[in-house]
Amino acid sequence: MNARDTLTYLDHAATTPMRAEAVEAMLPFLSDRFANPSGSHRFARSVRQAVDEARDVVADVVGCQPGEVVFTGCGTESDNAAIVGTQRRHGGIAVCAAAEHHAVLHAVQHGGGRVVGVDAAGRVDLDALAAALASDASPFVSVVSVMTVNNEVGSINPMREIAEIVRHHAPRALLHTDAVQAPCWIDLRTITPHVDLLALSAHKFGGPKGVGVLIERQGTVLEPLLQGGGQERDRRSGTHNVAGIVAMAEALRLTDIERQAENRRLAGLRDRLVDSLLQQLPDVIETVPRDVKVAGSAHVCIAGIESESLLYLLDEAAVCASAASACASGAMEPSHVLAAMGVEKRYSLGALRMSLGRTTTDADIDCALEVLVAAVRRLRGAPVHPAVGMKGVPA
Ligand code: PLP
Repeated sequence: MNARDTLTYLDHAATTPMRAEAVEAMLPFLSDRFANPSGSHRFARSVRQAVDEARDVVADVVGCQPGEVVFTGCGTESDNAAIVGTQRRHGGIAVCAAAEHHAVLHAVQHGGGRVVGVDAAGRVDLDALAAALASDASPFVSVVSVMTVNNEVGSINPMREIAEIVRHHAPRALLHTDAVQAPCWIDLRTITPHVDLLALSAHKFGGPKGVGVLIERQGTVLEPLLQGGGQERDRRSGTHNVAGIVAMAEALRLTDIERQAENRRLAGLRDRLVDSLLQQLPDVIETVPRDVKVAGSAHVCIAGIESESLLYLLDEAAVCASAASACASGAMEPSHVLAAMGVEKRYSLGALRMSLGRTTTDADIDCALEVLVAAVRRLRGAPVHPAVGMKGVPA
């Protein structure tokens, strides 16, 4: 059974279906072309060449030099390598925004760093950031981490302005951006010049799971997370995931080519989905204004229901979406992102993230609307308490 024929998949922020071209690109490296690219014989050299070609493609799309591309095992690793690696090398503490993905937030908190607030759209509060950096704190701030696109609500941080604040108030600090949710929506060439470190993850743009990138701009020196064979010019030890790297590059290349057209197409679908919901259901808010977020993000908060019950009904109708709540000591709690944004609890407990992507069609939107409107009406009439496990935001 093909999932794409039977499911209405509106969870592209969690992961994207792999592109057929990316699957095709990786196959030879899962069979005949199995050599270790670090070897010295001709077979190894030919595989190394494939890794180097993938590096060139990534560098072109990101807007950096090939030597600045470090292949990693996932987005989480890239974020940790940036934050932990900076602190281990240069000392000091890290600063991040309250709406960051846990891959950043937990790494910062674990290292004794500081978390600054966000505005009502989930973007870092620029004044709070400046204040946190300006205070003559000890230890000094060695790395600042602000995500390019938020994975829950889709808002876009102003990376150029953030870079100016960091350069002005903490000139010794490195600026890292978790750009894992960005490639489908934003030309990375407009982001890279402003940062020292940038994290990507292949499965968010049609590549395979378990492969990522950390861009380390020239002159940026980190302590590597992994000690070992010294691959990636001593920046990331471990035998290369060649198939994953080659497939990631192909997915990124195609994403870059299609980005503009897909932005237009998916903004249209997203607008229809959200407009129609707001029209048909009272007491629903669009969590973040559309002009500050990416085209594929449809995030709403529905008063009078709990996300978990709604997700259960959507799941029964084969509509895949996400909530943003987690169960803390038996009581529903809003996600850390919505809490930081100050969304009223009666709305945040009914949060629903629908994220559109390359495979989303008009028919998906029709289906989602029909199922969603009926489910919310049903829940508002008679609460449903399904005996299902927790489904938080898987991204
Ligand atoms: N950062 C953001 C913004 C994400 O959405 C994700 C997704 O899970 C990650 C980091 C982690 O990436 P990965 O799943 O490759 O570890």
